[in-house]
Amino acid sequence: MPRIIVQKFGGTSVGDTSRIRRAAARAVAAQQEGAQVVMVVSARGKKTDELVSLAGEFDIEPPAREMDMLLATGEQESVALMAMALREAGAEAVSLTGGQIGISTDDTYGKARIRAIKTDRLREHLDAGRIVVAAGFQGVSDSGDITTLGRGGSDLTAAALAAVLGAERCEIYTDVPGVFTVDPRIEPAARKLSRIGYDEMLELASLGAGVMHSRSIEFAGKYGVPIEVRSSLSDEPGTLIARAGAPARPVTGLALVRDAARVTLAGLPDRPGVMAEIFRRMADRAIPLDMVVQDLSVQGIAEVSFTVPQEDLAGALAAAKAAVDALDGAEVTVGTDLAKISAVGAGMPDRPGVAAKMFRTLADIGCNVELVTTSEIKVSCLIARDRANEAIRAVHAAFELDQAADADAAHRDDHPLSPQEQRVRTVVEGLQGMEDIVVADVSLDAHQARLSVRPVPDRPGVLADLFEAVAGGPEDDPSTGATVDMIVQNVSHAGHAAISFTVPESEANYAAELAAAPAVRWGEGAVQIDPHVAKLSVTGVGLRSHTGVGLKLFAALAEAKVNVQLIGTSEMRVSVVVAANEGERAVEAVRGAFGIG
Ligand code: ADP
Ligand code: ASP
Ligand code: MG
Repeated sequence: MPRIIVQKFGGTSVGDTSRIRRAAARAVAAQQEGAQVVMVVSARGKKTDELVSLAGEFDIEPPAREMDMLLATGEQESVALMAMALREAGAEAVSLTGGQIGISTDDTYGKARIRAIKTDRLREHLDAGRIVVAAGFQGVSDSGDITTLGRGGSDLTAAALAAVLGAERCEIYTDVPGVFTVDPRIEPAARKLSRIGYDEMLELASLGAGVMHSRSIEFAGKYGVPIEVRSSLSDEPGTLIARAGAPARPVTGLALVRDAARVTLAGLPDRPGVMAEIFRRMADRAIPLDMVVQDLSVQGIAEVSFTVPQEDLAGALAAAKAAVDALDGAEVTVGTDLAKISAVGAGMPDRPGVAAKMFRTLADIGCNVELVTTSEIKVSCLIARDRANEAIRAVHAAFELDQAADADAAHRDDHPLSPQEQRVRTVVEGLQGMEDIVVADVSLDAHQARLSVRPVPDRPGVLADLFEAVAGGPEDDPSTGATVDMIVQNVSHAGHAAISFTVPESEANYAAELAAAPAVRWGEGAVQIDPHVAKLSVTGVGLRSHTGVGLKLFAALAEAKVNVQLIGTSEMRVSVVVAANEGERAVEAVRGAFGIG
């Protein structure tokens, strides 16, 4: 079988005729080296933005179907021009829309998910020696309507075509020479990574690193497609996104979401079913919940906060109001002009103190943290938007990301699949639609303890004091800190916040002792311990981008009458802390819900 290469060119890389010619020349070169070539192209320059604002000139909410009809034209223009440029360069070429290829999607206009892709037409053209120029970002629904895959979705088209064609690799040509430790437009000292693993890239992309669409990484990881991100304007080597071993340092990269809004539902009854109710209302409106923070209830009254993109705030508020109307006595509060800064690194679990260091760095620049969530490979903090750039630069320097690492994530292609990867593979084989949720496993760690410190003063430095003490160990021997797992900080009320975290059961008392010291120094804050809790984790791929996962999880827990104490989410894992004696019941219910034996 001839080898196939997929080359994707983003908006700036096809911005004018000279760039289109340049892109065409790359495809021709790859073909001359003996490969069959599929190009995936985006709309030129800012075309999609222009179309969006054009639609906005009409005094109505543009109908979603017409919006997709409109936006898809940007890519249609590009593919036709690219095919002409290829002809000019002496190559045989054919342009195809999503519909002509046979990319079928569901009918959620604006964020459609790919169900299946036909390959026969593509293969016919390739075998006839043509370069196929595929329109990115679009598909067609069962009813024959044009759909789009979400902004930045051409990456997804490219990864998906590479997967179904069994391409040797998928090259993403863009306006930066690779994936950097952070967006180089925010921090010029950012460094290019030579290689990064799917998990870290997925987490970075979904936490705001706009260089790749997160669903394209979901896809690539699921189907094992290696992706190379590189510059369309130079020949320097880019970044390989592929399976990777242990990274060289605790933090691989940072990501920023600049347009976050917070929604808090307070005064909620602390009983099973409440979270399910809230998640259902959000999922009904396809609102992506980001940082979800639920802290321990006080006197039977619980509170949950989450962040949503600023543009979804109105919808989220409407959904939240509807949820609290059904729950007596609850109220909704909102925070705007916020930004989320995240540090991601697969090396975090083995190197405690990453969270503490991030908190200390933010405290040192006087930046207050509103919410915190962690997963095993990331720490996210919600801060004021006007501090975001400064915060990114400070954290970047603190983790020495501006310094060269020995080597980025080591090569691991020749290693056998890990049990987690194996499970994902098995689940992928049974999928109906290509972008279905992959839930690989539901596991229970029944030997955890939960500590809560409250009330704590709401000012910079409190989180740093606490986690330096707990994760760092006592002052005379800082190497013996406790193994801190989930960290959750909810919003403050009247100047006071609460912080909860989990540690292994055996370390509960020790961690409590360590936590007591800063509390004494602050002059407030009592440490409460629940020495026996269970942590239930759902692992898989793309869990947060599928709004339905949280819903299914909380509905299953509600049905089993299990109360949720803490929540932590990431793209690869959703964890909830429940009472130890409810752990088994919880795991059974959740396994049932996800069809895992
Ligand atoms: P394209 O139109 O080619 O798809 P995008 O604008 O979607 O290009 O993505 C490239 C941009 O992503 C860069 O210009 C850069 O500002 C931004 N970016 C964000 N995070 C990163 C990162 N970690 N590494 C490199 N670029 C990043
Ligand atoms: N043109 C679309 C957008 O601007 C898709 C893409 O470029 O990936 O979002
Ligand atoms: Mg892009």
